[in-house]
Amino acid sequence: MRKRREGDDLVFLPLGGVGEIGMNCALYGFGPEADRKWIMVDLGITFANEFDEPGVDVIFPDLRFAESEKRNILGLIITHAHEDHFGALLDLWPRLKVPVYMTPFAHGLLEAKAEGHAGAPEIAVRRYKAGERWTLGPFDIEAINVAHSIPESNALAIRTALGTVIHTGDWKVDPTPVLGAPTDFDRLAAYGAEGVRALICDSTNAVREGISPSEREVATSLTEIIRKAPQRVAVTTFASNVGRIRAVAEAAVAADRSVVILGRAMHRAIDVATELGMFEGLPGFLGEDAYGYLPRDRVVALMTGSQGEPRAALAKVASGEHRNIALSQGDTVIFSSRTIPGNEKAVNTIQNQLATAGVHVITDRDGLVHVSGHPRRGELARMYEAVKPEVSIPVHGEAVHLNVHAEFARSCGVKRAVIGGNGKMIRLAPDPAEIVDEVFAGRLFKDGRLVVLPDDSGVRERRKASFAGVIVVSLALDGKGTVAAEPEAVLVGIPSEDEVGKDFEDVVVDAAEQTMAGLPKAKRRDLDLVADAVKRSVRAAVAERWGKKPIVEVIVHEVD
Ligand SMILES: [Zn+2]
Ligand SMILES: [Zn+2]
Repeated sequence: MRKRREGDDLVFLPLGGVGEIGMNCALYGFGPEADRKWIMVDLGITFANEFDEPGVDVIFPDLRFAESEKRNILGLIITHAHEDHFGALLDLWPRLKVPVYMTPFAHGLLEAKAEGHAGAPEIAVRRYKAGERWTLGPFDIEAINVAHSIPESNALAIRTALGTVIHTGDWKVDPTPVLGAPTDFDRLAAYGAEGVRALICDSTNAVREGISPSEREVATSLTEIIRKAPQRVAVTTFASNVGRIRAVAEAAVAADRSVVILGRAMHRAIDVATELGMFEGLPGFLGEDAYGYLPRDRVVALMTGSQGEPRAALAKVASGEHRNIALSQGDTVIFSSRTIPGNEKAVNTIQNQLATAGVHVITDRDGLVHVSGHPRRGELARMYEAVKPEVSIPVHGEAVHLNVHAEFARSCGVKRAVIGGNGKMIRLAPDPAEIVDEVFAGRLFKDGRLVVLPDDSGVRERRKASFAGVIVVSLALDGKGTVAAEPEAVLVGIPSEDEVGKDFEDVVVDAAEQTMAGLPKAKRRDLDLVADAVKRSVRAAVAERWGKKPIVEVIVHEVD
């Protein structure tokens, strides 16, 4: 760790994940303004909203600032393998090409993902484990184990000549996790005793009072439900929640049932976890072909699809379209999950299909079948007590979460809480901690095979087209401005006729013809002017009858 020089400062610069839940990516910088060294923490995605970004698969942070500084970025540290923290690696790593530090589980999941990813890069990965410490230029880093909803989650202690930062990543207080160790408050408190300049901390559940239940309590509850179930049981959960999968497997053993697994993501996560010994002491999982010969009261089917994803296993099972798995009257389906906002409708559809078939549906409204992996206020209080930071920077939350978290930090005795935002550079040290600069921080769309800037993506027009359709009019004029052929029109996504039964195609062609007829011949020689006039009249004619304005494009052909 290098000594502090005059003009050095320590800054925190999020490029995603502040003011939103998702797309986490942050830089820490050390040095004088003109010559900073950086480390990056996490590189995640966020999910597109089907109304705002129709057709877009996922959204990445726009790394143009990091790209301009890539020679000074010493490494990228992944705190854990949730998509909102590492999901952009395969697509964006080639733009940075910096060494990536991740745990064996995260690395295993990355490699499994890379197999299904066309043109996946050979990422330079260095594996680390909780408790390890390493140096990157002016940063001395220690990974500290935290409990969360995926194996091998870490907080980072980042020591510099200007003080220590604790970056919590996603965490909760879980004294009895099903897999892995509880959050290492001994290490956190040791840093607290030494003095911590800033705590950069998870805000997801900062609006919730109390302490969230342990994964072990969920396991106990799942065991009860599965033991009492009269017939088949299906459980759906997040594939990366290996602790939960282990809890289901243990519950199945207690009820003398075998576990059959379904879904690509589930297989992928279970393979990686098995290799790392995370299912030690349990009988193996069975493939879906075993389902057919297992007695009804001797099976638990564990599957993907808890968010209602139409191509996932559960959706196919619920609609009766699955090749090997069927559920019927008297069977039980447990949603060991939370419905992510935006997915309610899809999840509802599946639950209704199951209920119609007489299947007993159990969700987190009916029993303790799911818990969050993020800290509530009682847990945040414990973190502030252990770390005793001088400065609090709430992250991993929308504006409401950040505000509430900042206020709560002050109530825990923290002198200063700074609410930042994506692209806002916060000086952590020396005093005073405050926003000192702003850099570009935007988003990139993954759209089919392409990664594109929102402005170049066509998504704005796509959204408009999805709301009011598209009309293309084709005109032919000769060099003197004489109409050479009747206008033609193609209408996409437009109603076929208006209230009095007139075809919209006729409405469009009539409007085009009338406009042409009304234009003096001299003006008709200006093709741009003709196109513009027809466009306006077609839009007006359609809007008058429909009450909506479609996208209208006019092509004017010049013929001899
Ligand atoms: Zn997260
Ligand atoms: Zn997470």
